[in-house]
Amino acid sequence: MSRKVINNMGRCSQIFQPVNIAPKDAPVKADVSKSYKHMVDAGIIRKASTGMYTLLPLGLRVLEKLTDIVDQEMLKAGAQKILLPALTSEKLWKKTNRLTQAGRELFTLRDRHNNSYVLSPTHEETVTDLISIVGPLSPKSLPLRLYQISSKWRDEMKPRLGFIRGREFIMKDLYTFDAGPEEAKITYDIVNKAYENIFKQIGVPFTKALGSTGIIGGSMSHEYHYSTDVGEDTVLSCSQCDYHVNENATEESICPSCKSSLVKDNTIEVGHTFLLETKYSEPLHATYHSGHGHKPLSMGCYGLGMTRLIAASVEVLSTDQELRWPVALAPYTVCVIPPKAGSKEEIASPHVERICEILSQSNVDFIIDDRTNLTIGNRLIYSRKCGFPFVIVIGKLATGSSPLFEFHDLTSPKREDVSIETLFSFFNNQDTKSTEEIKREATIAS
Ligand SMILES: [Zn+2]
Repeated sequence: MSRKVINNMGRCSQIFQPVNIAPKDAPVKADVSKSYKHMVDAGIIRKASTGMYTLLPLGLRVLEKLTDIVDQEMLKAGAQKILLPALTSEKLWKKTNRLTQAGRELFTLRDRHNNSYVLSPTHEETVTDLISIVGPLSPKSLPLRLYQISSKWRDEMKPRLGFIRGREFIMKDLYTFDAGPEEAKITYDIVNKAYENIFKQIGVPFTKALGSTGIIGGSMSHEYHYSTDVGEDTVLSCSQCDYHVNENATEESICPSCKSSLVKDNTIEVGHTFLLETKYSEPLHATYHSGHGHKPLSMGCYGLGMTRLIAASVEVLSTDQELRWPVALAPYTVCVIPPKAGSKEEIASPHVERICEILSQSNVDFIIDDRTNLTIGNRLIYSRKCGFPFVIVIGKLATGSSPLFEFHDLTSPKREDVSIETLFSFFNNQDTKSTEEIKREATIAS
């Protein structure tokens, strides 16, 4: 669960959330995934033009939560955050021979002096040129690990499924510089460990597969995949051991380590790591003082598709009818629904404040559905549509002398009537315990 306090309390009445209410018999478009449909319908994203989307307030909160997880893990992996310009001179892309390779997938433009630029889909050239200009580096400054989280562009032939294959997207890209191949491999292992930590915190099942080095190049690569029918990648997994490989990176028909059969799975690639060696540092002269003159740095590059990861996790977790988030990324963890104005339950309204206090003390971010002109039922429907993982309703059972609150856990999913003490324990132990465990303990204690 996210403990990040960002605009901790929200109010539904004030959120800019243009929801899409499609007519019941509207035909479902063939090329629309459930994540895209849910995210547009619930006012999380909005299409701006082909393959380009606006992240609305709730969508941006999700990105901020993911950014927080990624920043923490990058920091632990010894990386420093920077921000490179979006435009890269075409001259640099010519030096590494990638301008023609990438071809029409690049967005390009010219300035008033007729200089050509690439709207960068990735930044190996820019960052290596930076190191070249400030270099040769001292061996003491190595390893050097620099990353950024920024918008990237790719002029896809067929943009589809919203952020799963967009033309503008947000990516985390890390570039590492080491003295030699052995040191670079140590960095590679550290970063892959960080990636595993990131994916574990998000909580959606993932597969780490051997990847092809493709246009990025290099000597070794691993990919991180989410399994879903709409995925355009195919991962082959051994039926007996932990061997996984992207179909495009192998000719094998059986597992090379245990000779068992390989099973195909449709997936979306959400992260990719490359050991590059000197593919970029040599042509761009990014070097260090080796004691025997200047030597090219051994590099690695590591991508994480932030907006794609958000869409893909929704794709994996949602049902056809309802949006579901990883709890760690949900725009708000809890939605609190106070009684309807003018109803018999309205006398229970003072409990709202106590519940908000408990959530604030537990560092749980929440939103209050303060549109008390609406029935509880209607607001519950809204809550489910947005996919808030937990909903607390102050309703009929909250009016008595020992008040109980409706607690909806959309992750399991289940609904229970619980006391304020149970709510308190649940949100203070959320990272480790289920409601059952807490209730069992509470029963034993009393
Ligand atoms: Zn095997």
